Amino acid sequence: MSSALAEHRPLTMPVYAEGTGGWRRRSPWVAWLEGFAVRHRDKLVWVHVSMFFGFMALMIGPLLLPPPPDGATFYNNFTTFANFVIWGLWFPLVFVSVIFAGRSWCGILCPLGASSEWANRVGLKRPVPRWVRWEGTPVVSFVVITVLAQTVDARGFPQGIAVVFGLAFACAVVLGFSYGQGRNKRPWCRHMCPIGLMLGVFSRIGAVQFVPKRPQPGGDAYTEKGACPTMIDLRRKEESRHCIECFRCVSPKASGGLALVLRKPGTEVAQIRRHNPNAAEIWFLFLATGLALGGFLWLILPQYEVLRQAVGVWAIDRGWDSIGTPGPSWLMSVHSQGREVYTWLDFFMITSFMLACAALLTAVLTLLTVSSSWVAGRLGADLDLRRRFVEQAYAYMPVAMVSLVVGLGGELFDAIQRAGMPLWAVAAVKVTLFSLGMAWSLTLGYRLIGARGLAGARRPLALLPLLVGVTFVGLAWWPAIFGA
Ligand code: SF4
Ligand code: SF4
Repeated sequence: MSSALAEHRPLTMPVYAEGTGGWRRRSPWVAWLEGFAVRHRDKLVWVHVSMFFGFMALMIGPLLLPPPPDGATFYNNFTTFANFVIWGLWFPLVFVSVIFAGRSWCGILCPLGASSEWANRVGLKRPVPRWVRWEGTPVVSFVVITVLAQTVDARGFPQGIAVVFGLAFACAVVLGFSYGQGRNKRPWCRHMCPIGLMLGVFSRIGAVQFVPKRPQPGGDAYTEKGACPTMIDLRRKEESRHCIECFRCVSPKASGGLALVLRKPGTEVAQIRRHNPNAAEIWFLFLATGLALGGFLWLILPQYEVLRQAVGVWAIDRGWDSIGTPGPSWLMSVHSQGREVYTWLDFFMITSFMLACAALLTAVLTLLTVSSSWVAGRLGADLDLRRRFVEQAYAYMPVAMVSLVVGLGGELFDAIQRAGMPLWAVAAVKVTLFSLGMAWSLTLGYRLIGARGLAGARRPLALLPLLVGVTFVGLAWWPAIFGA
């Protein structure tokens, strides 16, 4: 919540939600929900323990079983079932859930975050070092985990799932054990978790937020001293990004602490200037969209195979024969029973292709956003070019989110198709999702430009490069929707 808005808020009135014209009274059922969550907060540990054992069963169970036979489905084979639960249900649904419930997955259900916090309780409690706190750290972590998930084929084999989630789990526990002063801190969740990064960024367009009842001016701040597990300085909280909805700061009867409120989806982004805009989020948005696109395209584009062959021949002509040999199974998919064996050539090709797609898409979207910000400046918008760029780029959030759901959550669409939905209907669902994402992005862009003081015909003019950008993202995903 912004200090500007806080000035309009009478402190004697305890339950308010952000509305278009200032502050309005919170609905009774939101107050009931808040009270329910607080009353049953102590039972969360049992949810976390159950989720922990469920997660272990999905991760380790398939490793102990023989590979699924041809024609196995999720209702007659546990390995296929585990794969479907992780990639077909959990992954896309947890994404979509941020629109309606913010980061409730993190605070209420996630076994990784809970394990990190348990480790913190008995750990060394050192101050979180600067390299961990660097804003780019979760972006690097996202890139590494996403590329690794492709090279070990985490979608195709349980060993791949074990590598990716095992690595994330180990890092979460080690980081929680080593760092985070005070009680029950989650440095992994705040600074390094790639899933938390995605959910946090997209929770900004979600309908849920926690706002301080007695806000302090000065802007969003970081502290390891308070009660918040993700180190939010509670009275100065302005953004949703790091809030995992643990309800620890909520005490319905107290005049202080935070309150749960609902808002129209997109409100925080449309008013991003009041909610701590951040350039690292923008680089993440652009890179993640490109990386997800690359991770999808290398699997289906015939041109990728042509390129791979050409690079392979070029390397062997130079005597680099080892490029055709498989590497370690923790780095690439090596399943010797003839099912799938990646070589170093595959590893370098997949990695380079994904990074190249990410760099290309980032370059195009950066250029178009700079154009939009420059045009807006020429037409009289406030702020300098850099800050206009950061604010304007938030408009890509909905289309980026749809990209990640369609690209990385493809298993759900495959399952829907296997369940009997015709191909054209699945494509229609994806087109609809993309169209909604694009329309929402344009609406946000329009509002962001308006918030900078542009009106009339100057607004759509400044919006034009953004229209080109979201269309470009949509077209780039064309093969994912209709096939190569
Ligand atoms: S940030 Fe990551 S590890 Fe932490 S609770 Fe969320 S998903 Fe789980
Ligand atoms: S702001 Fe409150 S609800 Fe959000 S993570 Fe911190 S303590 Fe939990």
